Amino acid sequence: MSLHQTVLVSDWASPGGTTLFLSGALELDTAQRNDLAARGIQVEHMRVVEVAGDGPAIDVRLEDGRALRFHGLFLQPRTRPALALAESLGCALDEGPLGPFFRTDETKETTVRGVFACGDVARGMGSVAFAVGDGARAGMAAHQSLLFRPAE
Ligand SMILES: Cc1cc2nc3c(=O)[nH]c(=O)nc-3n(C[C@H](O)[C@H](O)[C@H](O)COP(=O)(O)OP(=O)(O)OC[C@H]3O[C@@H](n4cnc5c(N)ncnc54)[C@H](O)[C@@H]3O)c2cc1C
Repeated sequence: MSLHQTVLVSDWASPGGTTLFLSGALELDTAQRNDLAARGIQVEHMRVVEVAGDGPAIDVRLEDGRALRFHGLFLQPRTRPALALAESLGCALDEGPLGPFFRTDETKETTVRGVFACGDVARGMGSVAFAVGDGARAGMAAHQSLLFRPAE
């Protein structure tokens, strides 16, 4: 996902202004190296030991002593639902590109009848617009399930 993110971010940067730090987390194959080079993205293999600065400049210090300065730094962490309740109810999880999320159907009902989920906990990729839309869908479906669904 960091490769994917690097290409997205480089589309907003000045040509040659994007660097991907691998920091020992990833080995690139030839096709990946060629693709990044063709897009003008620099690749830094040296391990990152420190990131400093909270203003317009961010300094990334490397294990070999070099320090590189950037206007911004993007990370691609993994995420997981913080709520243990849904898991304890037995709601199934799917594995997404950024981490696990609750499996839902088109009404946002999880694999457990009567339990609905929306937003980042129930999607592979987050966005405010998707979360709001999913919330409306889940709210309507939950309400209707209370009114019209026969009790088991
Ligand atoms: C750095 C960053 C930048 C982003 N930029 C954009 C952007 O530009 N545009 C865009 O559309 N989206 C953006 N997103 C994604 C967007 O923020 C999320 O998709 C959206 O906020 C998801 O909404 P949500 O309500 O599902 O979850 P959240 O906004 O995460 O809300 C969940 C809430 O539940 C609370 N909570 C968690 N556990 C519990 C618990 N056990 N009990 C009670 N409360 C609990 C949390 O504290 C939180 O307030 C960005 C996300 C990040 C991290």
